[in-house]
Amino acid sequence: MDLQTKALHFGYEKDTQGTMAVPLYMSTAYEFRDIEHAANLFALKELGNIYTRLNNPTTDVFEKRFAEIEGGEAALATASGMSAIFYAIANAAEAGDNIVCASQLYGGSLTLNSHTLKRFGIESRFFDVQNPSEIETLIDEKTKVIFFESLTNPSIDVADIEAITAIANKHGILTVVDNTVATPVLCRPFEYGADITVHSASKYTTGQGLAIGGILVERKGLVEKLKANPRYAHFNEPDESYHGLVYVDLPLPPFTLRARLSLLRDLGATVSPFNSWLFIQGLEHLSLRMREHSKNALELATFLESHPKVKKVNYPGLKSNANYANAQKYFDEGASSGLLSFEVDSLEVATKIVDATELYSLVVNIGDSKSIITHPASTTHQQLSSDELIACGVPQGLIRISCGLESSEDLIADMKQALEN
Ligand SMILES: *Cc1c(COP(=O)(O)O)cnc(C)c1O
Repeated sequence: MDLQTKALHFGYEKDTQGTMAVPLYMSTAYEFRDIEHAANLFALKELGNIYTRLNNPTTDVFEKRFAEIEGGEAALATASGMSAIFYAIANAAEAGDNIVCASQLYGGSLTLNSHTLKRFGIESRFFDVQNPSEIETLIDEKTKVIFFESLTNPSIDVADIEAITAIANKHGILTVVDNTVATPVLCRPFEYGADITVHSASKYTTGQGLAIGGILVERKGLVEKLKANPRYAHFNEPDESYHGLVYVDLPLPPFTLRARLSLLRDLGATVSPFNSWLFIQGLEHLSLRMREHSKNALELATFLESHPKVKKVNYPGLKSNANYANAQKYFDEGASSGLLSFEVDSLEVATKIVDATELYSLVVNIGDSKSIITHPASTTHQQLSSDELIACGVPQGLIRISCGLESSEDLIADMKQALEN
């Protein structure tokens, strides 16, 4: 079945009312039939609803549907993209371990990896996503995750997913891919050997800038990689916090199960069922939107490339771009999302352009149906030192655009007047 068909139908059996739309179940808890039923649910002898911190029927449809269109086995929705990323890492690593991650990351992921994880005793080691061979020099027996973005935000590089997963597989290490910007419509990392994907559902999934949420997806057959793998003893040994459960011995996808049973249970970054319901609406037209976002961005990028005030345009759909070959290989029809950036001479010039645009809103978000303009060095990446800024590909004169669904003629005309202002 095609992805677009699945996005409309998968994971929902019409309820007794025959509702066409997936019902929104706002309920904190669920009634058990009797004590035996309750005990069976807690012991995982039977699967079902217990308490919305752990599961919810609306969120369940969102998780099943998203896992299916990503080509994965199971998913866990979370309260934000950042909590999905934290859970993916915390489910694999603990104090004393390290993770290897790309330098070109979303600002929040960068501060998570370089500062916050350190306080939990997890060390991060960075590699240049354009140079995956660096990974091999960074890993040791304590490396639990290789983390990178398929399409990086805001530097807009396209990772060579196969090159990275080949190194990871050689050493039996889990790869976690942030697929937020590419979305499952453009890129399906599991087809290239990735193990886990994470997303901010706050971006293209909702599509209209409506709600914060995240999701973590596990590939099919991941249990085989975890089983008897000395790096992941905690999946192979009895979990004392869950009366001796051994995750790899269960007939359930182990990674999302453990994230739900221990991390979601104890840390509680649960998505609101209402937000899950909004994400379900967004998935229905995600593939239509991604094609339109990508078309608009390519037209705007082509215009910017021809403008004398613009030093450089970063858009993987441009033939001149260093990521063009990877975009053609990893993205459906080479379509490269609505995210692009361009560089002008200085902070001053960038400020003038951003302030002169009318159609683009100055907002720190991406993936909205309305176009967005951002100056990363003064906003999302403000907390980084100038060295860190260079390392993650954010010069002072860099302007980031998230191309919306307005007409491309209007978007180009407004950008032209802002550049020539
Ligand atoms: C926005 C974003 C995140 C964080 O997601 P939130 O939902 O805002 O927590 C993570 N990764 C990427 C690539 C993002 O664009």
